[in-house]
Amino acid sequence: MSRYFCHDHPDVLALETTVVDARPGAVVLEQSPFHPGGGGQLADRGVVAWAGGEARVTGFETVDGRTWHLLGEPVEPSGVVRVAVDPEFRATQTELHTGAHVLNALVYQQFNGALLTGAQLGDDGTGRCDFDLPDVDNDRLRALEAALNDVIRQDLPVRYAWIPRDEAESQAGLLRSRSVAPPPSADGLIRIVEIVGLDRQACGGTHLTSTGRSRAIRILKIDNKGRHNRRVRYGLVALA
Ligand SMILES: [Zn+2]
Repeated sequence: MSRYFCHDHPDVLALETTVVDARPGAVVLEQSPFHPGGGGQLADRGVVAWAGGEARVTGFETVDGRTWHLLGEPVEPSGVVRVAVDPEFRATQTELHTGAHVLNALVYQQFNGALLTGAQLGDDGTGRCDFDLPDVDNDRLRALEAALNDVIRQDLPVRYAWIPRDEAESQAGLLRSRSVAPPPSADGLIRIVEIVGLDRQACGGTHLTSTGRSRAIRILKIDNKGRHNRRVRYGLVALA
């Protein structure tokens, strides 16, 4: 997985930087606080502002190891720019994505190492995870809601480590997704996310600093997707 600026500086959501390449409607920046999405997490949204104007950042495109920030208009900024991630959007993605970790950790532990086959977060405070679970009563999956919220109440800290790929592959359960194993970074290292006392797995997404920072989670729906897959939809409980 690529090593992003936001991995080392998750709290820096705005900064001043320089355009290193541009074409109409897209720029490459010397430094970027944006998370480009991946593993079901939606790409950050935000703005880039320069002396002559401002444009929305609408997406990302990585070509030859360089990340192009796609802009909402066919402008071509140059020189020094100020960039800012939409803080609310990032916060909700981070909260939902951390919830996905807790959910897939519980499924892995309680259903004999069942693997994740897909994940997708929405922009409406809900997300879904698909699991390879051929013979499971859906009521047992629904019952995970209590355990999920118990992990939130325990306020377990979240920590990171970068380890060599072969080490990650040799430890059962670290590469949790059945479909996509994250590619190693340029230095061959894989980022491991640990929810202390619960789970460790490879991931390049953004996470809360501890589980207790999440709102409560409801399991909204369980669908059978084909013979093998169960789709679990979940959502953050709206603040009263
Ligand atoms: Zn993650």
